[in-house]
Amino acid sequence: MENYKNIIEDIYSDVKKVDDIGKVANYIPELAFIKAANFGVHISTINKEGFGVGNFDKKFSIQSISKILSLTLAYKLEGEKLWERVDVEPSGNPFNSLLQLESDLGKPRNPFINSGAIVVCDVLFNHLKNPKVDFLNFCKEISNNATLNYNEKVALSEKAAGFRNIALTNFIKSFGNIKNNVDDVLDFYFHICSLEMSCKELSEIFLYLTDDNFTTKNGNRVLTMSQAKRINAIMLTCGFYDESGEFAFRVGLPGKSGVGGGIVAIHPDKYCITVWSPKLNEKGNSYKGMLFLEKFTTKTASSIF
Ligand code: GLN
Repeated sequence: MENYKNIIEDIYSDVKKVDDIGKVANYIPELAFIKAANFGVHISTINKEGFGVGNFDKKFSIQSISKILSLTLAYKLEGEKLWERVDVEPSGNPFNSLLQLESDLGKPRNPFINSGAIVVCDVLFNHLKNPKVDFLNFCKEISNNATLNYNEKVALSEKAAGFRNIALTNFIKSFGNIKNNVDDVLDFYFHICSLEMSCKELSEIFLYLTDDNFTTKNGNRVLTMSQAKRINAIMLTCGFYDESGEFAFRVGLPGKSGVGGGIVAIHPDKYCITVWSPKLNEKGNSYKGMLFLEKFTTKTASSIF
């Protein structure tokens, strides 16, 4: 940890000084109020050590990072049948694109673009009695963190301006790949996206994808080893939409971004690291987050390649 600590502190002060060419997301009106200067980093290792700098303890809207958690629960409940509803191929398109859905007959390319995550919500809807409560309880259990919650204001703000996602869901339903009521599925999706966590909490909750031997407080495994490997593989190939190749090229770790400015990256068998900096590049990924992680895996020589 000492080694990581010094490197994180050095890179943090370097990247803090860099001129940020990104922009805070404002298509979800509530997100536009976030202070652009927030900048936090936290690492958690499989030997249960942790270290953070900057605003690592401040909760923010995790947005699409939550798609890993909804995918995890759906995979656990549905098993391999899940892949009949959603594919595992990079889309090479923006996260909110409608383009490929028509030729793919309503089967989204992967679970990390909006269309795929909405289908995953629909799958969960059939398994859970009380979807919003049950999903939140699942997140609390795997993180052993009872403070987790949705941000109602962010969920309602996205709902009021969610024209793209409304269009996507209706379009997929026209092909029969949404089984439940469109408004109900979207309400669930918007709430999942509004989950709030700090860098520290994020780097802790994803230890189940980092550590092959991870069990919850009650001694339960979250996923089988094969399932965890597969989710890491989808993160590597699809976690950054049409910038997934760039992230693998520059950082070299499975990862996932969100339009709240967070990024998580996983080094299997070593650590989970999270960066939060709200200004996004033109692909919707945190500008400084990517820069920080590129420097981090370079200096620690710890990419998976
Ligand atoms: N809730 C956001 C949306 O559906 C999530 C997008 C993201 O973080 N890339 O547009």
